[in-house]
Parts: sequence; C-alpha cells; structure tokens
Amino acid sequence: MGESLISSRTTNKTVMDRYMRLAIPDGKCQVMYVWIDGSGEMLRSKTRTLNFIPKSPTELPIWNFDGSSTGQAEGRNSDVFLHPVAIYRDPFRLGDNKLVLCETYRYDNTPTHTNHRKTCLEALKKAEDQKPWFGMEQEYTLLDTDNQPLGWPKNGFPGPQGPYYCGVGTNRVFGRDVVEAHYRACLYAGINISGENAEVMPAQWEFQVGPNEGISMGDDLWMARYLLHRVAEDFNVVVSLDPKPIPGDWNGAGMHSNFSTKGMRDPNGISEIQKAVENLSKNHAVHIKAYDPRGGKDNERRLTGRLETSSIHDFSAGVANRGASVRIPRGVAEDKCGYLEDRRPSSNADPYAVSERMVRTICLNDI
Ligand code: ADP
Ligand code: MN
Ligand code: MN
Ligand code: MN
Ligand code: MN
Repeated sequence: MGESLISSRTTNKTVMDRYMRLAIPDGKCQVMYVWIDGSGEMLRSKTRTLNFIPKSPTELPIWNFDGSSTGQAEGRNSDVFLHPVAIYRDPFRLGDNKLVLCETYRYDNTPTHTNHRKTCLEALKKAEDQKPWFGMEQEYTLLDTDNQPLGWPKNGFPGPQGPYYCGVGTNRVFGRDVVEAHYRACLYAGINISGENAEVMPAQWEFQVGPNEGISMGDDLWMARYLLHRVAEDFNVVVSLDPKPIPGDWNGAGMHSNFSTKGMRDPNGISEIQKAVENLSKNHAVHIKAYDPRGGKDNERRLTGRLETSSIHDFSAGVANRGASVRIPRGVAEDKCGYLEDRRPSSNADPYAVSERMVRTICLNDI
C-alpha cells in the first residue's frame, strides 16, 4: 500500500462544504457501494443514485464492477457482482445518503477469492445458539504523504518508545484530529465503535469495535476501516495497516480478537474459556494461516516474541500475559467468567477469516 511517493498537492477541502449543502431532489439518495478488493486488504467504492430511500440491504439492487481492475477477474470475463449485505448512514454526504457494504461474486455466482464473508456466515449460523460475541482492536499507523510515519523527524527517528502510549501533548501524539474525526464518523454511521487510544509507537493508534454478535463484527470493522481511509483523505494523511511498518525496536500493529460464548459469559464460564484455550492450542498452525492476508507471511515480521508479542512458532496462553498468543484478562480470571483475547491476528487480517477460524475451532470442533 502506498509504495510510491505521492504528490502532496491537494484541493481545498473547506470549499467542498458549499456544494455539500446543495439539496438533493425529494425521494432520491446517493448510495456508495463498498467492497473488499483482490488484495484482501484494501477497499474500493463507487456510487449510484437511487429513487427511493433504502432501509435494509435487501432492498438494494445487485450491481457490478470491472473485476479486471481490482485483481478479482480476468479481462475477458470481467464483470464481478456486488451483493449488498450491510447498510450504514453516510457521514460524508449526510442526509438520507447511505454506505453499503457488499460481498463480491463471480459471473458463475461463486464467491471471489477475497470474499471470506460467505463461509464465515455459514459457520456462524451453525454456532448461533452459542451466541458468539467478538470485540476487535484495530491498530494502525498514520503516514505522511512521503510514507514516513506522521510527525517523525524527516532525517532520523523519534525518541524511544515509552511516552507515546495513551500520550498527550504535541511532541507525543501525531494525528489526533484524524482519530477524533474517525471516531465521530463511525458513531454517526451506526458502527458499534467502543473506544480508541494512542499506541506504543508514535503515530500508531487503535480503535475498538464490539462486542458484536455474529457477522456484524466483520461488517462493522470493514466499514470502520473504509471510514478511516476516507477521513484520512480529508487530512491528506495515509493509513497503513501493515503489521510491522518500521523494522527494529518499534511495536508492530495487530488486530487483537476478543471472543466469548454465552457459556463463557455465564457464572463459572472460566471452564468454557479453558476448553477454548485447549482447542486453540491444538490448532495453532491453521490459525496463523488465517490471521493475515498472506497465510502467515505478514505476521512473521511481527510475531517475534518481543515487543508485546508471542513467537509465531509456538502457542502460549496466560492470565494478564501480553507476551502470550492468548491472554485471559485479569478481571476475567477473578470473576471466573467473561472472554479471552487472541493476540495473534495481524492489523491487516480479514475479520471474517478470523471470526470463522475462531468459531470453527472453539464452537464447532471443525478444523
Ligand atoms: P486491551 O487493550 O486491554 O487488550 P481493549 O479495551 O482495547 O483491551 O479491548 C477490549 C475489547 O474486548 C473490546 O473490543 C471489547 O468490545 C471486547 N470485549 C469485552 N467484553 C467482551 C466479551 N464478553 N466478548 C467478546 N469481546 C468482548
Ligand atoms: Mn465505465
Ligand atoms: Mn486495546
Ligand atoms: Mn493495542
Ligand atoms: Mn488487546
């Protein structure tokens, strides 16, 4: 993402306001269709006008796009279909305008190779009675248009890690305006965003979504990522989801995935949590494969066993241990019920692939 130097010339964003105040004819709205592209990591979007105001994704027409331009089809048979699955209020166009998240299907109605939602939903349906909840912590890094972390000195490095995590002050946090704007945009859109914090590496941040039951976890997280990229456009800043943007003694970025079933949340659910950890321990390799878009290659750079990570080669679990693959929060151990935290997924992992893998291992015994 963002490999080349991009020009910092931009248009004047405030002038836009004048046009965005122009009324749209009664009964019409703009619907932005959003989808995951062939990289499995980046998003694409395009708009159509509708002559009614949709309330649910099922009312929206199936649409298509040129899959040969997104790594999702061959040039000779390039139509890929967009199936609307989740609808949100549009925090940029406001009013009755909508954002709609879509699944992608090929001409023969099979899912494209980066559509991980379909099989995730199938698994979640089988585990519905266990009421699976997810809460995901999305870490990311803000970059300047020259691909340097935002606010870092142009010829060197900032002081070592320590003062930046949850920091305050001009010399400690970089890009708070982006974070604030994104948080509010997510709330407006209807995403179940639950918090944010500045991270250990300067210019690195986190937001949390959840707890969400079922497929809405992945839907909300993908739309929150879309909003982050869009908000960053307005500030002329680049968002990187790379799990190890700066090599060396700088923290990487993850997508810690918190999980519980009804059994785990009920009194003495700790025994269910221990069973889940046991199942996870037996399937470390299949989880690592599902926990980044390159089958474990991206996480090799991040899961070194240092800087609050576990080694990619071994499974470990512990109470309050941030160097373990799976952590049981201190409060959960004391209450004897609650949830577990899988710390292995990378920041660019697909939340559908992660949700599916967790549910198959923990709830369905399906490896
Ligand atoms: P930390 O940084 O200490 O690991 P955070 O506060 O950043 O934790 O994130 C905790 C996450 O756990 C939140 O996303 C929250 O939604 C999620 N969570 C809380 N309770 C549950 C639960 N019972 N099941 C699943 N997720 C949960
Ligand atoms: Mn065209
Ligand atoms: Mn966190
Ligand atoms: Mn974090
Ligand atoms: Mn965490």
